Amino acid sequence: PDGEAALHVESLDVAYGRALSALRSVSLTVPPGGVVALLGANGAGKTTLLRAVSGTLRLHRGAVTAGRVRYGDTVLDGQDPVAAVRAGVVQVPEGRRVFAGLSVEENLRAGGLGLGRRAPAQVKEARDRVFTLFPRLAERTRQAAGLLSGGEQQMLAIGRALMAAPRLLLLDEPSLGLAPRMVDRIAEVIREINAQGTAVLLVEQNAGMALSLADHAYVLEVGEVGLSGPADELARTDAVRRLYLGET
Ligand code: ATP
Repeated sequence: PDGEAALHVESLDVAYGRALSALRSVSLTVPPGGVVALLGANGAGKTTLLRAVSGTLRLHRGAVTAGRVRYGDTVLDGQDPVAAVRAGVVQVPEGRRVFAGLSVEENLRAGGLGLGRRAPAQVKEARDRVFTLFPRLAERTRQAAGLLSGGEQQMLAIGRALMAAPRLLLLDEPSLGLAPRMVDRIAEVIREINAQGTAVLLVEQNAGMALSLADHAYVLEVGEVGLSGPADELARTDAVRRLYLGET
């Protein structure tokens, strides 16, 4: 994978089935090593955009009907998740979907699948990185994932994605349903992952958290980009303060 690749979403249209248009002419860029936030109300199309990048759209009966998704020189639209993972792009799905019946260790091992045989040293390096970021997981390697707390499951879901050594991490609402302290912890972890050189595309309902982490942000409004700009500027606009930061 190209360490210096940027993600370019260009005039993207996505539809579910024949009738339901979920994204219309959406363009967005994540520069190498950047953190970009994608905000918007329920149903605005945030998850759909991540699916179009990670190759999981078809699993949800969706399709790109126009436009392009490129990561460096690799065209990602119309591809499958393995192609995205090979290109260095990995999604952490919403709702901390870990394999509840499998142990922490087994969940992490599943994270490198699709990459083919990797040198044991490479796998060990990825695992060490995960355990350094999440010491709680290191203490619970044999525990069934379903018995972890919500916050720990989110950490495991992120850890599993990191096992594939992504250059670009797609995070879908990592703070959803977590207690404020855990939200702070997740924000710290995202900062750390990014400081280690991984770019992040962060979908959040928690606009305050997302804008504090991001360099740049986009607001989706019913399938289209409404506002976009530097995160600190967006955080000062009236519309964002009123609609997404809960200020009056
Ligand atoms: P949320 O925060 O609720 O996940 P979102 O911004 O991520 O919202 P999407 O989940 O991308 O929004 O949904 C965008 C639109 O596409 C919505 O109208 C939704 O109902 C529709 N949609 C999403 N998934 C499917 C699907 N598998 N089949 C049909 N329609 C879908």
